[in-house]
This record gives sequence, structure tokens and C-alpha cells, in this order.
Amino acid sequence: MYVGEDVMDWTGVLARRMGRMKASEIRELLKLLDQPDILSFAGGIPDATLFPTAAYERAMGEALQNPAALQYSVSEGYGPLRAWVADHMISLGVPCGPENIIITSGSQQALDYLGKLLLTPRDTALVGWPTYLGALGAFNACEPRYAPLDPWRNVAPNEMQAEAEAAGGKVKMAYLSPDFANPTGETLDASGRARLLDQARALDIAVIEDGAYQALRYNGEAIPSLQAMDVAEVGGIEASRVIYCGSFSKVLAPGLRVGWVCAASPVIERLVLLKQAADLHSPTLNQIATDRVARELFDTHVAKLRQVYSARRDAMLDALDRHMPEGVTWTRPEGGMFVWVTLPERMDAAEVLAQSLSSERVAFVPGGAFHADGSGRNTLRLSFSCASEAQIAEGMERLGRLLRVQ
Ligand code: PMP
Repeated sequence: MYVGEDVMDWTGVLARRMGRMKASEIRELLKLLDQPDILSFAGGIPDATLFPTAAYERAMGEALQNPAALQYSVSEGYGPLRAWVADHMISLGVPCGPENIIITSGSQQALDYLGKLLLTPRDTALVGWPTYLGALGAFNACEPRYAPLDPWRNVAPNEMQAEAEAAGGKVKMAYLSPDFANPTGETLDASGRARLLDQARALDIAVIEDGAYQALRYNGEAIPSLQAMDVAEVGGIEASRVIYCGSFSKVLAPGLRVGWVCAASPVIERLVLLKQAADLHSPTLNQIATDRVARELFDTHVAKLRQVYSARRDAMLDALDRHMPEGVTWTRPEGGMFVWVTLPERMDAAEVLAQSLSSERVAFVPGGAFHADGSGRNTLRLSFSCASEAQIAEGMERLGRLLRVQ
């Protein structure tokens, strides 16, 4: 065993990018939440009891009849699955073909590749404030500067580029999840989307649209995706600056790690090079099985999920209305898995969590983690996807009781 001076000092050999790679507060927190008596609204994950397990069992069994299911395969992804995804994108208003699709290992891998594709250290990425923590984690390895993406913020494009140049790079991309965002649950309306696209055209940057929750709408009219709007405006996918990241994780099975990117073919060709270098291809069996399962039950399964999750969403909004004290506000999401709560300015959600875990046994994620600059200390994220309606009612009552005495 090596002790003291015999321990390797890695700091001298680590790459500079590692200075930006930190353990996620959420993942650390989730490790502590295994105790059965904790009512957890922390994990942003689907309910495992809703996975289409039997369909996957059949699909994998059938796929394994052919040894090709265990063989290496092409980096672009399994052909029939790319074709299914292209048809799915067409149904969402994006005329495209399989050449516009690459299959990735979840949309998380797509975010990693897109950081590498677009960001040189010190370039600027425009992100929501707050935004999906995993996107910041993926982009951080490319050492960008972040600036808040606010479609209503009237900063002239040349001023924004001048700021980015002063920081040593260029504004390269905007990243956002316009439908039921993680962590806020909010949706960008059609005029906000149009405005964002105008801003992106004026800046001449790429737009990364994260569609992870798009299928999970519980009420209200579906709004065309940024990619559908842009494609309609510029005359086709090949002219579009929007790169759409999709995922089977929230609607079928996250553990299989199957997602996709839909974009102009020159973008897909470069992503294929990145994938070849990183992992050659996503698991062949998982892609074949996902293709079979998606063809069998995607629409009916999504309809079932909408029913279950929307009842949980309603239960959470109802319980918040009943139990939250004056001064606490929250979003009213039309889909997805999250409600975003803003506490009075003086409160610190991380401190509230510590108390909540010890006295009320209720868990959530403090919102500071989702802000690129560590602001948002008085915010928190509640997830309603994995709790029963009764647990939600009980949990919100306990949380309200604790907040009332802060
Ligand atoms: N984007 C968002 C907004 C997410 O919330 C998640 C998962 N939490 C992902 C992307 C990544 O999902 P996956 O890699 O499983 O597709």
C-alpha cells in the first residue's frame, strides 16, 4: 500500500479542462437518498415500474436470433432505427431522411459531441439560467464561457459578439430545452421561439434544441419545435442551423442509452467522426431492440405515460396550492417531470434541504446547482415522476410545514 509521499500527485499531469469538471451535487445527493423513509422528489428519472419490460424482453430475444445483434455495427446507427427516427421527426414537422440522423448513446452523448463539435476554449455558449446540469457538465470539458440566453434580453448581436471576442472567443451556440425544461418545467412560447431563432440568425450561431421531454405534454397545444420552425423558414433541414437532440430515455428505457441527433447532413457526418473516435457505435442489440419496441408501441406507451405523469403533476400543483406559505412561488408545467419553486430571497434552498432531510424526511434538489454562475440559491427543483399521488400530497404538506417556520 502506498501512503504519504508515495501517493502519485496527479495535479501536475491533469489536463486544464479537468479544472472545470466537478462532481455533480445532484449525483452526490442521490447517493444519500437510499433510505426507505425519505420521500424523494429529487431524482429527475422516469418511473421504472412504467418501463415496457415485456416488449423489450421479446424484442431482445428475437434480435438475438441473429448473431449480428452482438456484432460491431456502423457509427451512424442501426439503419431501420435511423429510418424510424427520421419518420418520427417528419411527424414533428421536420422533413428529413436517415442521412440527417445519428444514433447516440442517450442524448447526453450528443451533448458531449456537440460541445466538441462547436466549442474551442473561451468560446461563448448561450445557456438558460438555470439550465440542464448535464449540458453544463458536457460543455465544461471544452472550457467555454457561458452567457445567459434570454430571448427577451435586448442585447444587440454585435455587442454580444464583441463581449465574446473580448473574452477570447466567439459566440458559437445557444443551448436550450424549449419544452418542459429541466429544471424549471417551463415551455418557451411560439413568439419566444421565433425571437430566439431571429437572434441566432443575427449572431450566426448554431442552436442546440434538447427535446428530451417533448413527447411528455399533458395539456395545452403542442408548439412546433425550434427545428420545425427554422426548417419551415429557411426551406429545409440542410439549410437549418438547429441541431435537435432526441432521446428514448424518458419514454422507453434510459438504461439502454439510446438517443439521436437530427441535423443537416454536414453536421451528422462530423458527429459520425466524433462517434467513431469515442465509442465506434452505440450498442447494436439496444438499437435493434429499441427499433422493434418503438415500432410496436411508441405512441400507445407515450399515451399511457402522459396519463400517469399528468395525474402526478396535478397532484403536486394541487398540494403546493394547499400547503405552501405566502411568498413561495412555483411554475405550472404543461408536461415533463419538474416543478421549479422559488423561495423568498432570504432563504437558502441547500440549508432548507439539510433541515428537510433531518426533520421532515423530504428530498429535493437545491436550484443553485443549475445556474452556471452558482446563483439561484433560493430556488429548488421538485420532480413528480417517481412518487405516487399520496406520497406527493404527504411530501408537499411536510415541505410546507418546514417552510412556514423559516
Ligand atoms: N437533456 C435533458 C434536459 C435531461 O433532463 C436529460 C436526462 N436527465 C438528458 C438530456 C440526458 O438524457 P439521456 O442521455 O438519457 O437521453
